[in-house]
Amino acid sequence: MHEIILNKNHSFAIECGQTILEAARNANISWPYSCKNGRCNMCKCQVINGTTMVNYPEVGLTADEKNKGWILGCARTASTNLILKINGFQNKQFPSIKQLPCKINSIEKVSPDIIKATLRFPKSTSFDFFPGQYVEVIGNSGIRRSYSIANSNFSTNILELHIKYIKGGAMSEYWFKTAMINDLLRIEGPMGTFSFNNNNPAQNLIFLATGTGIAPVKSILESIPNLNKQNRPENITLLWGNRLISDIYLNIDSLPNLNDFNLVLSQPDYNWTGAVGYIQDILMQMNISFENTEIYACGSPLMINDTKNKLINLGYSINRFYSDAFVSSI
Ligand SMILES: Cc1cc2nc3c(=O)[nH]c(=O)nc-3n(C[C@H](O)[C@H](O)[C@H](O)COP(=O)(O)OP(=O)(O)OC[C@H]3O[C@@H](n4cnc5c(N)ncnc54)[C@H](O)[C@@H]3O)c2cc1C
Repeated sequence: MHEIILNKNHSFAIECGQTILEAARNANISWPYSCKNGRCNMCKCQVINGTTMVNYPEVGLTADEKNKGWILGCARTASTNLILKINGFQNKQFPSIKQLPCKINSIEKVSPDIIKATLRFPKSTSFDFFPGQYVEVIGNSGIRRSYSIANSNFSTNILELHIKYIKGGAMSEYWFKTAMINDLLRIEGPMGTFSFNNNNPAQNLIFLATGTGIAPVKSILESIPNLNKQNRPENITLLWGNRLISDIYLNIDSLPNLNDFNLVLSQPDYNWTGAVGYIQDILMQMNISFENTEIYACGSPLMINDTKNKLINLGYSINRFYSDAFVSSI
């Protein structure tokens, strides 16, 4: 057993072999995380003192980050006492994680390779989540995959998921070829720390989403009317990137609270008159003042990393950049 001191003022114990992230979560520390398998870099921290051992490959870290002493909390354990630092640490208590049975309530094909599925839970189920979080869906064979929650509350005992087909993917083949209404599944969640920062939020919010990355953004936007007036942002801009017109599976006009939005296609059909390219490049061309602004990015890990690098080059504080990368679990 070793002791970990985080950002000088939180301390917790870690058992032999346990990952740093697991130990932090057991101690109710709201350490930021998403994929839990070393592929995104949400749980990245810097080792100030002490040594660690690798449990899983740290695919989500660049060589430069590794050289500067950054590690992934989900991929390492402690071999001595540790002093660690994380940026953008919000000391926020997330709802507790549960495993719950559910049935498929509906499946709707909303584009050639995206379905909207709703899961129905028994009436007596209580389930809390912060808009932006995700659940792991556990299939009959025990396979589990992460999906962001697309609705903003559990008032009807329903969770809405937006699922993209990945050719040959184990869970994709289930959702698109064999899943039936009333199939019994289990979920574990809520997970992840991607959620609206309601502790001293900025006046301006920018959401960047690619593909089904719009799901947690929808959830957050739908929750904003319920916030206290002083926590409501003044300006919200959304950039949603897709490849083709047929990928635009959601009517953006139906999303509440948007002051401005931009639909961007990377491979537009000939009759597309909107923006063309990648949303991170379009964001840079928009000449937005990043003062008093928070940025939420969700979906493709390439988009998230590229956006982050571009913002760092502009001198934007990365502490006000929140992201959830839809990385593969294998
Ligand atoms: C925090 C989080 C939230 C997520 N939320 C959503 C969501 O709301 N909606 C959604 O559709 N997906 C989401 N994902 C991705 C999802 O969990 C699965 O990874 C994805 O659906 C593929 O699962 P699969 O079983 O079909 O494919 P797998 O059997 O896991 O993979 C099959 C093959 O496809 C590759 N692959 C897997 N995913 C991708 C990808 N995205 N792009 C390219 N190749 C890939 C794998 O490397 C592998 O070679 C999320 C992931 C994370 C980590």
